[in-house]
Formats: sequence, C-alpha cells, structure tokens
Amino acid sequence: MKRHFLITVLIAALMFFLAFQIYMIHSIWRQKEEILFMRYKTLSREALTILLTKKKANGFEKAMDVTDKFTELVIGEQIPLLRTEADTVTIRKEVLSQVYKIIEKNEHLSGFIRDYIEKYGYDSKFETFTFINPFTLITDDGDFVIYDTIPPPPRKTMIVVNSFKEEHNNFVIGYSLLIDLTRKNEMVFREASLSFSLITASILIVLIVFWVTWKNLAEERRLSELKTDFINNMTHELKTPLSTITVAGRTLEKNQVLSDPGKVLETAKLIGKQSVHLNQLINTILEVSLLERTEFELDKHKVNPEELIHQIIAAFLTSCDGCAVIEEEYRTSDLTVQLDILYFTTMINNLLANAVKYCETDPVIKVSAVPEGGNLVVSVSDNGIGISREHLDHIFEKFYRITHGNIHKTKGLGLGLYYVRRIATAHGGDVTVTSKPGRGTTFRISIPQ
Ligand code: ADP
Repeated sequence: MKRHFLITVLIAALMFFLAFQIYMIHSIWRQKEEILFMRYKTLSREALTILLTKKKANGFEKAMDVTDKFTELVIGEQIPLLRTEADTVTIRKEVLSQVYKIIEKNEHLSGFIRDYIEKYGYDSKFETFTFINPFTLITDDGDFVIYDTIPPPPRKTMIVVNSFKEEHNNFVIGYSLLIDLTRKNEMVFREASLSFSLITASILIVLIVFWVTWKNLAEERRLSELKTDFINNMTHELKTPLSTITVAGRTLEKNQVLSDPGKVLETAKLIGKQSVHLNQLINTILEVSLLERTEFELDKHKVNPEELIHQIIAAFLTSCDGCAVIEEEYRTSDLTVQLDILYFTTMINNLLANAVKYCETDPVIKVSAVPEGGNLVVSVSDNGIGISREHLDHIFEKFYRITHGNIHKTKGLGLGLYYVRRIATAHGGDVTVTSKPGRGTTFRISIPQ
C-alpha cells in the first residue's frame, strides 16, 4: 500500500516536472522569438533612418525613375488599344508584374539594411520583399487604371520595415518593404541553445534519479518476495522432520511397539535421524544470519586438495547410500593450498547435493581439480536438469530458488549456492556457473594458491 502510494507520487512528480519543463521550453522559445523580431525590426528601421537623413534617399529612387519611364510607354502604347474587359485584365497583370520586377531589380534599400545588420554581427541570411498596394496609372484623359493588389498571406516570419506612398508623373504608388526571416527557427534555436541544454540536462538527471529509485523499489519488492518464499520453504522444511518425530513418539506409546525391542530401536533411530536433520536445518539458518552480521573467520591450513576432495566425495557417497556415480580427475598431486577445511567441505557438499537433487535420471557427476594461472580450479559438472539463462545471474543470491512451477517439488531454502559463493570469496576466489537446460550444469570454483 505504502509502496503503491510512493510510486504514484513519484510518477505524478515526474509528470509535473516534465510538463513544467515543456512549458519552460515553450516560453523561452516565444521570448527568444520576440527578441529576434524586435532586433531585426529595430536594426532595419535604424538603417532606413540613416539612409533618409544622411543621403536624403529611401533607396527606391532609381526604381521609381525606371517605373516612370515604363509606365509612360504603357500609357502611350497599350492603354489606347484596350477594347474588352479581358484586355484590361491582361494589361493590368502584365504591368504590375513588370513593375514588381523593376522595383526588385533597382531598389537598394534591402542591400543597405543587410550590410547594416551584418555590421552588428547578426545573421543576414533573410529574404526581402516589396509589396505594392495600391498602384494607379494616370492617363492623359484623366482616367485612372487602378491596380489594387490583394495583400500576400501574412507569414509569421515577416517583418514590415516601412511603407511608402509616392506620386510620380505617370502613376501613384503605395509600397512596403518586408524582411522575411525564413530561417527563423534555426536562429531562435541557436540563441536558446544554452537554456535548452540546461533544461535537457536537468530532465536527464531527473530521469536517471527516477530510474534508480524505481530500480531500488523493484529490488526491495523482489527481496521481500524472496523472504516470503524463504519463510514458506523454511516452515515446510522444519515441519517435515518435526511431524515425523511426533508420529514416531506416538508410535512408541503403543503397547505392541513397546513390547517389540526391534521396533523401539527402529523408531528411536528414526527420531535420532530426524533430530539430526532438524538440527542441521537450524544450524544452516543460524549460520547464514551470523554470516550477515560478521565476516568469515577462516581457519586455514595447508592441504592437498586432491586428498581433501576425495575424502569429501567418499563421505558424501556414504551418507547418501551411493546416490550418484562420481568421476574424479586430478592434476594437483603436488599441490598444497591454504583452505578452511570445514567451509571448503560445506562448499563441495552443497554442490554435490544440488547435482543429485536437480537431476531427473541417474546422477553422474564429474569432479575435477586442476591448477590454472596461479589458482586452484575445482569443477563440479552434472547431468541434471540444467538452469535457464534468466536464472543464471540470480542463483547465488540469498533465498533464490527456481520454483519449477511447484514451490515444494524439491526441498531447499535457497541458501546452498549463496553459501558456496560466500565461502569462495572469503578464500579470495570466486565461483562461476555455465549450464545447458536439459543437459547439465558446471560450477567452477577458483581459489588462489
Ligand atoms: P536450494 O537448493 O535450497 O533451492 P541453492 O542455493 O542451493 O538453493 O540453489 C538455488 C537454485 O539453483 C535451486 O533452487 C535450483 O533451482 C538451482 N540449482 C542449483 N544447483 C543446481 C544444479 N546442479 N542443477 C540445476 N539447478 C540447480
């Protein structure tokens, strides 16, 4: 319940944070965009004022002179030929497009503005447009031919530098000069890049923190599930010998059993065996809890591994009534290694016991001990059920068990391999595992000589 609440709060906080960052990016973008427009507007108007005051020109003088000559020709040659409405439309279109061409070719205001903006170190990669509205021809007989153009679709990237209105011999004109920041987005992005990098970095940091917290919570949950499994398994493991002892105790109370010394002895042996098993279980649990609190204190002795391993195997086979075929291979006859005999025995016993326990046919186990690069390497291979990849990384963890769908199919507390790894590392070595599901598993313990 508490964990769910924490996760919900975490996700909500993350969402809020991301939404806030998006809002920040949006407002920074708008702000930078406004500043950019303001800058280009101010600079281009400054350039125009300089042109008007210092040179007494607006940069369109030549264009207007050429237009005047052109319109004189039109009025003299073309206007008198107008007959139909269609003629008028054609002439209007043609004249206007010519005037646009003349103005664009002959105006020099846009070049002046470009130089002025470059002088301040800003990007001059923008386009300029002239927009005419209205345009009226003045003819001799007093008639006016008016070209009222429709305004171009207002683009968000456009800035109006100035609008002019002039009267000439043959025409009256209104026109505006516009700047089009076609690469506006690129410009804004460049200017906002520092802020954006900081925001991206903060988003990344928060995401990493979130991910780590999430992982920790998941790990905590996994451990708590493992503990629950462990308690279930332990209860089951403890109950089995206890109930056998209880039943055996009751059997002893029966008269027909009491009168038969053979049966009494048999029952007493059973009680003894189960008590030993119970004791072993309790010791394992106590040892592990002790291991958690203290470091291993090894009582090391120089031993020949070949002799020791051979003795361990012999004792194991006796205790399990020859439950497996064990093949031995040694290349360590001259070798002596510093080992804690008790812990080393536990480690090999755990591996042998697992090799028998997790085998569905007659167990054949291969044990080898060889010197390798300054280490003693002991391998225990079996022909058991194997371990699939997803479990391989976890089997050395405390309480970890592969349930095979049924938690009590094989007995165990999930402590055997945990113990093996702790003992190997306490000796300054390590243990690794390779396995093929259905074929068998090999554990390799390496201990420095
Ligand atoms: P336990 O045997 O008490 O479950 P271990 O720590 O000894 O605990 O082993 C952990 C898990 O690793 C076991 O539940 C088992 O599924 C798997 N395992 C260990 N040894 C072998 C083996 N030789 N072959 C197949 N699976 C094994």
